Amino acid sequence: MLSDNLHEVQENIRKACERSGRNPEDVTLIAVSKTKPVSDIEQIYAAGIREFGENKVQEMNDKQKVLPGDINWHMIGHLQRNKVKYIVDNVAMIHSVDSVRLAEEISKEAVKKNVAVDILVEVNVAKEESKFGLYTEDVGQFVEQISKLPGINIKGLMTSAPFVDNPEDNRQYFKKLKDLSVDINAKNIDNVHMDFLSMGMTNDYVVAVEEGATHVRVGTAIFGHRDYNI
Ligand SMILES: *Cc1c(COP(=O)(O)O)cnc(C)c1O
Repeated sequence: MLSDNLHEVQENIRKACERSGRNPEDVTLIAVSKTKPVSDIEQIYAAGIREFGENKVQEMNDKQKVLPGDINWHMIGHLQRNKVKYIVDNVAMIHSVDSVRLAEEISKEAVKKNVAVDILVEVNVAKEESKFGLYTEDVGQFVEQISKLPGINIKGLMTSAPFVDNPEDNRQYFKKLKDLSVDINAKNIDNVHMDFLSMGMTNDYVVAVEEGATHVRVGTAIFGHRDYNI
């Protein structure tokens, strides 16, 4: 049963919090349901989860239409500017803001719809060529640059660490993201509150929690393997 998978993940998060002196309430588990059917999401919803993550706008909108309205939907995938208008007023948080032009588009559409959108800045901490996100050294200036845009709240940073056999290998990147968020907070930029660190996936969420993740994005460990992996 999928709920058994869920409970195992929740238990692992609880233990990681205990080991690192953290309050489990400070860690939000986002169930990443991309490619998975509505019936799977309903099972996890019935087990109490209200935070779900998707990486495609169309798929998220389709699922929103048929699933309960109290679900908080997180956009975690690369977002094209021409799709922004379909999500600004129905997304809990956009985790994948990686360019000024995208931030400007979110701002423009948010103002148009009279909403404020919570966003995270995606950081490519390990400088992988295949990944989106800003390099660590560019994030401070980027945040200052987009901080004046109306209609967006900059809530923190997000990263996807490399695929590794040993999750310990990613601890360094989680530490770096945490340090970066502390540095940026110290600048006291108006409208910028580095409250959130979205980091950790199936392979490495335990290490990420130990290093301060406030949001972990877990798909495979809850829903099983995906037929296609994007
Ligand atoms: C797919 C995806 C996840 C979940 O990955 P799993 O390894 O299945 O837990 C998390 N974050 C992002 C950005 C993703 O695209």
